[in-house]
Amino acid sequence: MSRLDRLRTLLAEHHLDAILLHNGENRTYLTGFTGSAGVALITARESLLLVDFRYVEQAAVEAPGWEIVKVPRQATDIVTEIVRGRELRRVGFESDGLTYKQYDELGTALRPAELVPVTGVDRLRWVKDGDELARIRKAVAIADAGFAHVQGYLRPGIREREVALELEFYMRRHGADKEAFDTIVASGVRSSLPHGRATEKVLAPGEFVTLDFGAVVRGYHSDCTRTVVLGDPSPRHREIYDLVLAAQRAALAGIRPGVSAKDADAMARRVITEAGHGDHFGHGLGHGVGLAIHEGPTLSPREDATLEAGMVVTVEPGVYLPGWGGVRIEDLVIITPDGCEDLTTAPKHLIEL
Ligand code: ZN
Ligand code: ZN
Repeated sequence: MSRLDRLRTLLAEHHLDAILLHNGENRTYLTGFTGSAGVALITARESLLLVDFRYVEQAAVEAPGWEIVKVPRQATDIVTEIVRGRELRRVGFESDGLTYKQYDELGTALRPAELVPVTGVDRLRWVKDGDELARIRKAVAIADAGFAHVQGYLRPGIREREVALELEFYMRRHGADKEAFDTIVASGVRSSLPHGRATEKVLAPGEFVTLDFGAVVRGYHSDCTRTVVLGDPSPRHREIYDLVLAAQRAALAGIRPGVSAKDADAMARRVITEAGHGDHFGHGLGHGVGLAIHEGPTLSPREDATLEAGMVVTVEPGVYLPGWGGVRIEDLVIITPDGCEDLTTAPKHLIEL
């Protein structure tokens, strides 16, 4: 089924006459249009893409098959006109795609038509097709090459920000459209910060350095974390690193279609909890990656979704000890018919620099 046909099954499920897409990734996924503003309006028969002056030409090229409607920056009046003209009564919108103000204004303007919150549009993006996988593979390869490059640059005496910049510059030089998110470089005691952005801190001997980074290739992201040690690791460094690696390997060995996201999380969490560090692994095991860096399915104790072939998720256990440091190891995998394919090729033994 085409992406549009799959979206239309949501129309039927929710008894809708139309659905409005405001979320940028959903809009891009359905239409192909990559601009940063616009609204897609889909009925059983029509597919309209409403964009302002800045994007009319681009939309016509990127979204063939869609009727392009030029609208002012604030499209409420035109949406209302379309809804009235076609006598649409139930109009769906993404419940997480509008601000309260937008919802209030649009809801009032559309009356007597009813705005109906819809969840599950994002869900259409969870299983990737071949073209999406090719872009993700390329984004992973660029980031892996970036990591190999930056190992020759990481040494005591340089700043976290210089490391991040070197890695980002390399990835851009080698085909990344941009970095997937603000690069994380967290060294020493800062490595216990799961999302410690690169700072002015100078790297020192005997420290862990956690790097979390990714590339974007034609809209699709990659996501990788590696933790290295500067100089000789202490027994504690080894103990914590080996524990996180064992947890990741347990999950990678068990992840396959039919496993629930919460059970996938538990495969790694069990290993860490049995070693007495359950409280030091405070985030989920992973998340989907695609047009967004964080999308579904989330691998966490609270997620009921079931894994399916073609989903792309991170597997990223971590142990964080406040005041000492932490380790996270993150790979990106495709769920395959009988397991998972680990896309990340960056080495996973404890690298000593
Ligand atoms: Zn990451
Ligand atoms: Zn991640």
